[in-house]
Amino acid sequence: MKSPKSLIRPLVHDLHAYVPGEQPKIKGLIKLNTNENPYPPSPRVLAAVKVAVDGRLRLYPNPAADKLRAKLAKLHHCSPDNIIVGNGSDELLALAVRTFVEPSEGGVLRRPNLGFRRAKPSETVQYFTPSYSLYPVLADTHGAAKNAVALKPDFSLPSVAELKRGKHWNFNAALTFVTTPNAPSGRGYATADLEALCKAQRGVTVLDEAYVNFARENALKLALEYPHVLVARTFSKAYSLCFQRVGYFVGHPELIDALHKMRDSYNVNGLGQIAAEATLDDLSHYRANFRAIVATRKQLSRDLTRLGFRVLPSETNFILAQPPLFPAQEWLQKLRERKVLVRWFSAREVKSYLRITIGTPAEAAVLVKAAKEILR
Ligand SMILES: *Cc1c(COP(=O)(O)O)cnc(C)c1O
Repeated sequence: MKSPKSLIRPLVHDLHAYVPGEQPKIKGLIKLNTNENPYPPSPRVLAAVKVAVDGRLRLYPNPAADKLRAKLAKLHHCSPDNIIVGNGSDELLALAVRTFVEPSEGGVLRRPNLGFRRAKPSETVQYFTPSYSLYPVLADTHGAAKNAVALKPDFSLPSVAELKRGKHWNFNAALTFVTTPNAPSGRGYATADLEALCKAQRGVTVLDEAYVNFARENALKLALEYPHVLVARTFSKAYSLCFQRVGYFVGHPELIDALHKMRDSYNVNGLGQIAAEATLDDLSHYRANFRAIVATRKQLSRDLTRLGFRVLPSETNFILAQPPLFPAQEWLQKLRERKVLVRWFSAREVKSYLRITIGTPAEAAVLVKAAKEILR
């Protein structure tokens, strides 16, 4: 009899799965750790989902989310052929790796003791650090090579000239992910700077705009202008639909078509499609939410700054802040004891920071009160 372990591919043995933020079930806990929207979906969205829950649940949903794609195409002034919908944008990020990147031969890149060879650009997934921590996991699951290049010390985007001088950046990488605005720093990037970077890239470039509704600018036009650029959007953060798992890519029809070939036949569940469609019919409701979150972000940044936190400028629904007096990891614990859950990352560049999701004004007030108590 073979051991179960021997049945698993070596690549999978060595994998470290993505670590999602905690979803604890503690009563009265203020949850500011996973960048969920503190406001519920609009009443019209909730009603549309409720009405759809009947005997039709036995049917398969529309395989390509046609109605939703048509609505998105109208919103972005493009064709439905420019759009693919996914089971969250996470699914599409994984699909992009599988569609555009070659797995490296025999996984030799993962096993230096078996002899190193230089990764080919065709096998390379590239991204900045720090950025979305899912990208390296996606490269690893595919057996692709990773090229992680540091952002500048203030987390701003290096210019093309700086990337050329630094020699680590690969302008031929098969796939480059850029989180914009960035997570976990919260920093926004100018569209002009992103365009310069896209122009210099020869492989597929995904601009991951998960937080763009809280930002000053968006780079969607680049996906319609450059055939190698894809923009990723999600209904999770801005539209309060994490639970439903709906995200999408906008880009050139040939890239979109290739992604369609690689996806599961019914990748987006029916209630998710309905919720997303209803969301697009009620955008003014959400614009008011974005304004509220941006206002709370400003207030919270001011309050924490007054308490001695160093708060980085944010264009997202969270802030990255260096707390005073104690190490950030201790703050995480002390806040938790006061029923406020924030996020801390152990990565070197960010381990002195807390990432704090913008909640309601009342939740922000509880956080500030807890911080004052800790400092007393
Ligand atoms: C949350 C997040 C996503 C994933 O969103 P889903 O649509 O919920 O899968 C993608 N990219 C970034 C940077 C995120 O923060």
